[in-house]
Amino acid sequence: MMKRARDAGLRRTNALENILSILVHAHQPLSLADIAESPDLTSGADKATVYRILVKLDELSLIRRLGLHDRSAYYTILQPGRHDDYLICTQCGRIQTLDIQCPVEALEKQIEKESGFRKLYHELEFYGLCPSCSP
Ligand SMILES: [Zn+2]
Ligand SMILES: [Zn+2]
Repeated sequence: MMKRARDAGLRRTNALENILSILVHAHQPLSLADIAESPDLTSGADKATVYRILVKLDELSLIRRLGLHDRSAYYTILQPGRHDDYLICTQCGRIQTLDIQCPVEALEKQIEKESGFRKLYHELEFYGLCPSCSP
């Protein structure tokens, strides 16, 4: 991961290493606060610095930003061969990883076969109202 970041022209800093490591080991998408307040952020970077690095990583397609608006944005690492699909609440912005088996893997194979495209990947986002927001 660090290599991909450096190949993309990012300067290697402790904060960058911390953030990549936090995201690689996360089991769910993380918010800016989750990352900025993580005990694994040993470099002691402040929130603004963390945000700046996240924006950069997003621009470089090393991570993905999820969610509807900045206030409830979540970040997740993009790695070949690994993906998650998500449920996002349109009201409170809460996000969770879909824990049913990915519904489109077979479809992906079929598309690969028929289109000649290789190394396909996808991420799905389902939007709706979470249990606490639904009437
Ligand atoms: Zn909600
Ligand atoms: Zn999927």
